[in-house]
Amino acid sequence: MTNSSTPQLIETHFKDVGGIPVRRALPGKVRRTIGAWCFLDHIGPAEQKPGAELNVGPHPHIGLQTFTWMIEGEIRHRDSLASDLVIRPGQVNLMTAGHGIAHSEEYEQGRILHAAQLWIALPKHAHNIDPAFDHYPTLPILSHEGFQLTLLAGEYLSEKAPTKIYTPLIGMDILNTSTNAGQLPLNAAFEYGFMCLEGSTKINGVALEPGTLLYLAPGSTAVNIESDSNTRILLVGGEPFEEDLIIWWNFVARTAEEIEKATLDWNAGRHFPDVPKTPLTRLTAPDVTGMQFKASR
Ligand code: MN
Repeated sequence: MTNSSTPQLIETHFKDVGGIPVRRALPGKVRRTIGAWCFLDHIGPAEQKPGAELNVGPHPHIGLQTFTWMIEGEIRHRDSLASDLVIRPGQVNLMTAGHGIAHSEEYEQGRILHAAQLWIALPKHAHNIDPAFDHYPTLPILSHEGFQLTLLAGEYLSEKAPTKIYTPLIGMDILNTSTNAGQLPLNAAFEYGFMCLEGSTKINGVALEPGTLLYLAPGSTAVNIESDSNTRILLVGGEPFEEDLIIWWNFVARTAEEIEKATLDWNAGRHFPDVPKTPLTRLTAPDVTGMQFKASR
């Protein structure tokens, strides 16, 4: 018995960001969170055309951690704590917004851009902590059943990632360089999402290609993976997040007042310090006038 429920297929919504394909799996209509993971964008792989590279000007966050897993290409991160560094393939950036941070993301180099960008909702006891930025240049790599596993967050088998997290969760990159089938153990207390980032795979017999996320409810103790060669899968999981949330623009909150205050503060240039030295233009938050915000699962 490895699987207690039928897997659920979730189609991502596709966006073209300056010629770079972005597939958004979370939040979606069917499912907003997997564990505390509350946002999941698969960016590329795509060619960065000169003059049209992916650049995101200064913008704020509250109540969450932003999490970047770089597969190909290089991006320069700057934030309002004066962090300034380049993230390269095989590395993770984790920015803890807490009560407020602002950052920008600049194209650094690399013809091809390929990355996953996620948010982790902070639980109520930590949602208001001081902001922080952590860069993880190396992460634990395991070999199991013919798969190369890079542990991005949480614990798996004998390894523990250094990534600072506030709720029980996991993030793992599963790479397969030859046609292979194997079984990976799962934590029955966790729900899971599997995103195929490159190639094609079957998860518990269900075919998966880039653009679709497969969701497994808690209760599974293992998963069967069949992969073609050169397949990369992103696994995210965690204990189901039991708090109602408002996820809007770049904010995660519990009340409409928090969202309105963060929006007005950012647009008025209050509360969030500037991002030093960025050459990019500051983004403006959409108008919240007349909007109804209600926290939900
Ligand atoms: Mn951001």
